[in-house]
Amino acid sequence: MSSLQPVRGTHDLLPDAMRRHRAVVDSARDVAARYGFQEMATPIFEFTEVFKRTLGDTSDIVTKEMYTFAPGGRDQESESITLRPENTAGVARAFISGGLAQQVPVKAFYAGPMFRRERPQKGRQRQFHQFGVELIGIPQPQADVEVIACGAQILEALGLQDAVVLELNTLGDPESRTAYREALVAYFSDHRDSLSEDSRERLARNPLRILDSKDEGDRRLVADAPLFEHYLNKDSRDFFAAVRAGLDSLGIAYRLNPRLVRGLDYYCHTAFEFTTDRLGAQSAVMAGGRYDGLIKTMGGPPTPGVGWAAGVERLAMLTGEPAAAPRPIVVVPVGEAAAETALKVTQSLRHAGFVAELGYSGNLKKRLQRADKMNARAALLLGEEELVAESATLRDLDSGEQELVKLTSLTERLSRLA
Ligand code: ATP
Ligand code: MG
Repeated sequence: MSSLQPVRGTHDLLPDAMRRHRAVVDSARDVAARYGFQEMATPIFEFTEVFKRTLGDTSDIVTKEMYTFAPGGRDQESESITLRPENTAGVARAFISGGLAQQVPVKAFYAGPMFRRERPQKGRQRQFHQFGVELIGIPQPQADVEVIACGAQILEALGLQDAVVLELNTLGDPESRTAYREALVAYFSDHRDSLSEDSRERLARNPLRILDSKDEGDRRLVADAPLFEHYLNKDSRDFFAAVRAGLDSLGIAYRLNPRLVRGLDYYCHTAFEFTTDRLGAQSAVMAGGRYDGLIKTMGGPPTPGVGWAAGVERLAMLTGEPAAAPRPIVVVPVGEAAAETALKVTQSLRHAGFVAELGYSGNLKKRLQRADKMNARAALLLGEEELVAESATLRDLDSGEQELVKLTSLTERLSRLA
């Protein structure tokens, strides 16, 4: 029955997968907090305009990938709404509507689901998760360095330092970008007939995006296209040099990639991506850059910003097995009389911070088998003799050793189990 399958491109996070997912996000939270980023969350849907304005009418996301609900639909909304394909636009919208402009710099961190209608494949879903950081209000290149350093440290905390490469480029300031744009238009116009249809469209609206094209023919042309570095003005060169010097002094290695252009309109100066060769075609695990034009574009006060977003599923695929679930203590009543005491003991263990399970039914052997299956660390047997002695038999399920322990000293004894 097809309705019992998850919708194409979506996935359940069953407990094992969820634990891996959580491990990634927990590490990221922990490191981001050390850099002073504070977690925030925005709604998973926004007015469509929020994404259209910021991502640009020509971006792949806006033209092909958004889940948009037309106005006047079932819920009688008068304005079109869209499931968020990314979270920078939402954070910027919240920055403006939440009055955070008074509080710059704002250092925000988010984690949650994003939605894009793309062709599902390994590492590419229609609902996926990102975590990301945004540092808003700092125009200096030190902010770029801090944001990249935070990303690098998260990847290190996940044990991925050898699995990823940091690719770095600059898109210059608006003046440099205009000059480069003209050079690109001149070059690609000469080769117009060899461009893909998509890129001919890009040539008119956003020629920089041609550099990003995945079309074979386009790529051959791109190989000989003018390089951005020849069109950078002094300010842009100085800015990039400062970012590189900062990374160098922190010992963060990178590879310059002059073809790295972020697909979005509002980026300037620093653009970067942490990529891996271990996930096939889906090589980007964390991507970002500087977006000084974004908040003004949305109608807020001119405010610089820099940030990145990482794909949680892609990172989880790279990190492999997560830490095992904590091992419970299983309380096993033997005979009816012990049922109430067992219930209370289980509850008191939980209050004391242990993971505790109550063995409900079956004979003693069955219950112990179940404890084994749960990978329990120990079993507490409560029979008639134990009740009389106000004790429990503690069975260490690793060593098989048993001892009688007073109920009053249970938590103390259990905390000494390795
Ligand atoms: P790609 O080139 O792989 O399509 P992108 O440039 O669209 O990536 P961004 O918009 O920069 O990606 O999003 C940041 C990160 O989110 C990516 O580096 C990737 O790890 C993850 N990501 C993006 N789209 C998906 C998706 N459909 N499924 C899973 N993860 C994704
Ligand atoms: Mg994409």
